[in-house]
Amino acid sequence: VTPILQVSDITKTYSVKDRARFFGKQHVQAVRGVSFDVYQGDNFGLVGESGCGKSTLSRLLSWVEEPDSGAILFEGKNIAEMTGRERFGMRRGFQLLLQDPYNCLPPHLPVGRTIGMALSIHGVGRKETAERVRAAMAEVGLSPDDLHRLPVGMSAGQRQRVNIARALVLEPKLLILDETLSALDPVEQGRLLNLFERLQAKHGLTYLFISHDLAMVRRVCTRIAVMYLGKMVEIADTGGVFYDPGHPYTKALLSAVPTLDERPYRTEDVLLDGEPPSPIDLPPGCSFTARCPEAMTTCRIKEPALWSRQPGRLAACHVTAPAP
Ligand code: SF4
Ligand code: MG
Repeated sequence: VTPILQVSDITKTYSVKDRARFFGKQHVQAVRGVSFDVYQGDNFGLVGESGCGKSTLSRLLSWVEEPDSGAILFEGKNIAEMTGRERFGMRRGFQLLLQDPYNCLPPHLPVGRTIGMALSIHGVGRKETAERVRAAMAEVGLSPDDLHRLPVGMSAGQRQRVNIARALVLEPKLLILDETLSALDPVEQGRLLNLFERLQAKHGLTYLFISHDLAMVRRVCTRIAVMYLGKMVEIADTGGVFYDPGHPYTKALLSAVPTLDERPYRTEDVLLDGEPPSPIDLPPGCSFTARCPEAMTTCRIKEPALWSRQPGRLAACHVTAPAP
């Protein structure tokens, strides 16, 4: 089977003005050689601290920005090589849901109109648009009365439902959920997770959850990628990540989750102190060295590759690397 999404060695670097203007421009390596595959109908999780490059990655995946190098394939087709028409269709199949839809819902437009807007762009007639908007609203648990409401009078959860309905009318195949539930209270989060589950069962959707919330990701995802300073440091099935983590950074993240009722991963808690180093001046070797309790001399010299430790379980660490 061809994965619905294939990400192959993508990089993204931004130039920033140096504060001491003197030195001119500096470069921030936001995404550094990231590769992973997502299969149809799967729930793939992408976790990491803020600033690790998750949001940059979500913009690259949804082609809001283009990577400097590497390739992203949607249903086996390289997005960079698509014709304008193909890319238009791809955008429809590929929806991005952000944390606070408030900023992307036009404030003066009744939400029913907002939900239908993309359909008009894709050439759907008025009558059909109206029907599909009503159907999508019913699916996400909004009532027909909500059609004429403005975003300002709605709760964060309702606005997120509007946003989901807006994505759904386009009959997407892949939803990228970038901290989509982070601003909601746990009850509403639970309701929306149930909604996502129902929508998946009905429409065969694929989800890419981008989140800092490990407990949530554990609940819904089958595979998880852990990102640190623009790189994937671990990719494994959910059991692998939680019961047999192969990277010290993953262990540290797990130790830092107070809401994990039982701690699948036990041993010494790894404390994660200090900020990650600036992505501007990355030291040679493993970029986790400064914070890593297991660091060795090699770590400062040689950057570990993402090795397969067991079938389907990859980690980028010299300690768990298979013997050469
Ligand atoms: Fe720690 Fe070294 Fe592994 Fe990096 S390669 S995570 S510094 S042990
Ligand atoms: Mg972010």
